[in-house]
Amino acid sequence: MDDLRKAASGPTLDPDDWTAVRRQAHVMLDDMLDYVEHIRERPVWQPIPDEVRARFRAALPRAPSELADVYREFAQYVLPYTTGNVHPGFMGWVHGGGNVVGMLAEMLAGGLNANLGGRDHVPIEVERQIVEWARQMFAFPQTASGVFVTGTSMANFLAVIIARTTALGAGVRQEGLAAAHERLVAYTSRSAHGCVRQAMELSGLGGQALRVIETDAQHRMSVPALQAAIAADREAGLTPFLVIGTAGSVDVGAIDDLATLARICRDGKLWFHIDGAFGALGVLARDLAPRLAGIEQADSIAFDFHKWGQVPYDAGFLIVRDGTKHRAAFASPAAYLRRETRGLAAGSPWPCDFGPDLSRGFRALKTWFTLKVFGTERLGAVISRTCALARYLERRVRGEPSLELLAPAQLNIVCFRYRSDDADAVNARIIADLHESGIAAPSATTVDGRLAIRACIVNHRTQPGDLDALVDAALEFGAHPRRAPALAAQ
Ligand SMILES: *Cc1c(COP(=O)(O)O)cnc(C)c1O
Repeated sequence: MDDLRKAASGPTLDPDDWTAVRRQAHVMLDDMLDYVEHIRERPVWQPIPDEVRARFRAALPRAPSELADVYREFAQYVLPYTTGNVHPGFMGWVHGGGNVVGMLAEMLAGGLNANLGGRDHVPIEVERQIVEWARQMFAFPQTASGVFVTGTSMANFLAVIIARTTALGAGVRQEGLAAAHERLVAYTSRSAHGCVRQAMELSGLGGQALRVIETDAQHRMSVPALQAAIAADREAGLTPFLVIGTAGSVDVGAIDDLATLARICRDGKLWFHIDGAFGALGVLARDLAPRLAGIEQADSIAFDFHKWGQVPYDAGFLIVRDGTKHRAAFASPAAYLRRETRGLAAGSPWPCDFGPDLSRGFRALKTWFTLKVFGTERLGAVISRTCALARYLERRVRGEPSLELLAPAQLNIVCFRYRSDDADAVNARIIADLHESGIAAPSATTVDGRLAIRACIVNHRTQPGDLDALVDAALEFGAHPRRAPALAAQ
């Protein structure tokens, strides 16, 4: 062999001993199946011991290690100290429970190592299939486009960019906002997620260009207040361009009056975007779908398959009614027009034409598997059941004289608290006690200025007994503060 050829030959990163790796792989797969099967036997969450945290401040590993050793480290120091959202006792924030089918699909996606930015391969057809399914779910027209992103925060940001580019014309992409003759203003409700404001900040429009509209008694955007704000801005010479409605607010699960917002936007020629992070998939649940009436009239919807859809993280999605407007905000016309019509470089438009990401993973696969294996009726029934669980919890809270309901269960969220003269402090402590006990993991929110224990039921594994455990423990810790473990007291 000549020297150059010799220097260019060498070992790969594939296993030397495939048999040994196969054996190890089966151990890892079995362990993860055991983990999910027996998740109830674990605490929901546990504090991270200092020595465990310290392990993850190690020096860069220059030398190799055995796969089995690294896996043992994972099993011992990573697996026990996660957020706990796989556990049925997890009710904090809005976290999905994931599912085994999606987990297996993640392994397949890792093996294929597909890059979903573009080019002509079936993984992109799988993503297009999800776009088509989302189109059917929301009864959007054939013109619709869609794209997977990390989560709804990113999807909301993309929607603001699309609405901005539609309002000002594609020239804004070159000229920037400084050249615009109009001052754009957007509207959302006080209950909107914080990422809506951030999307306005990142877009260059600025947080001040977002009008925060007050809410009505059911925590929905006040329609008269919205109309008054739009009129006042027009009067002041500004250009209202976007209304961001919420379908399932994070605090209490409120759904804005989507049909009325759609009409206001149509009449006033504003873009109507819906943050449906978890709530939008309520269209799959027979009892909830009517409450989302009007969602089919939106210009765009942001939502997460990783919340109520039970797909493992991350699987955010944006669907846009008019795909040409979507593409006009992101596609590079030069690159787009130069695309091949034959070979691997064909198949335009590509997902990279619908967002800022070029290299993208195969999020579509775990979503495709989850939707096919369970079917949307069964997924919809899970969504309905989480709402029934919230009503069950609401009844339990109403039945306990020491507890006070702060917001009735509109959807899958219940906000309540332990009665006390110093209720804010006491309930904050109860929440921490609940977390550290490993029994349940609700989160905190404020409802009308009062701190609440907030239980948001998203996980398909949660059962009434998990809510009984939450209530019983809240009563117990309300009456008898739990002694914080030495670790957490430090
Ligand atoms: C979770 C959530 C978001 C943020 O979505 P991510 O997927 O976490 O980025 C935005 N809005 C609402 C209503 C949410 O529930």
